[in-house]
Amino acid sequence: MERLQKVLAHAGVASRRQAEKLITSGHVRVNQTVVTELGTKVGVHDAISVDNVPITAEAPVYMLLYKPRGVVSTAHDDKQRKTVVDLIENVPQRIYPVGRLDYDTSGLLLLTNDGELANRLTHPRYEVEKTYVARVTGVPTNDALRQLRQGVTVEGEPYAPAKTKMLSYDQKKKTAIVQLTIHEGRNHQVKKMLAAVGYPVEKLKREQYGFLTLKGLQSGDSRHLKPEELKELK
Ligand code: URA
Repeated sequence: MERLQKVLAHAGVASRRQAEKLITSGHVRVNQTVVTELGTKVGVHDAISVDNVPITAEAPVYMLLYKPRGVVSTAHDDKQRKTVVDLIENVPQRIYPVGRLDYDTSGLLLLTNDGELANRLTHPRYEVEKTYVARVTGVPTNDALRQLRQGVTVEGEPYAPAKTKMLSYDQKKKTAIVQLTIHEGRNHQVKKMLAAVGYPVEKLKREQYGFLTLKGLQSGDSRHLKPEELKELK
């Protein structure tokens, strides 16, 4: 369910502010009844009209992006930096990222205009597994990896256990490549978890989101999800 003014704005009827005016001044009907209350929630099955002209919802769109480093994963940036939405071409709908990757993190990011799916996928209970590959300073000991598997505490908050795998290491250069799989989506989670056991992240990439991978994509590329992928995700 979405707020009526948001649905009108997304359908391209008016700006959010103008949509609010249309509602409060009695131009908008939901299922044939005039609605003047802002914040009325509507779903996909509600028939919405403005001055008796039905509005059609935008076609849902689901994109998988290989986010490069140095791009923000919000739809707009106050500092005018490039955003992940800027990287997606030939999609007229207004889409936004499902969760976030840090500015300096690369990897798999979904974008959609389907708010319901986005909410579900980012809900901790849904537990989508996300796999990251991190280059860290130092070579994590077995004990550090065990702590990550048991669940570390960061700033007094318990973080859920991670699956870990040491992919490679160089004792001389004091660096290692570690794979971490988590299902929570806290801010800077992987960096905080690895820092908490003494191994700061130098470089981070998300390689997998549930069953979705970056296979066939170069950094900056995007593609539509396939119908069978969408079915599995839903
Ligand atoms: N964990 C992080 O620390 N950063 C990300 O971008 C994603 C997960």
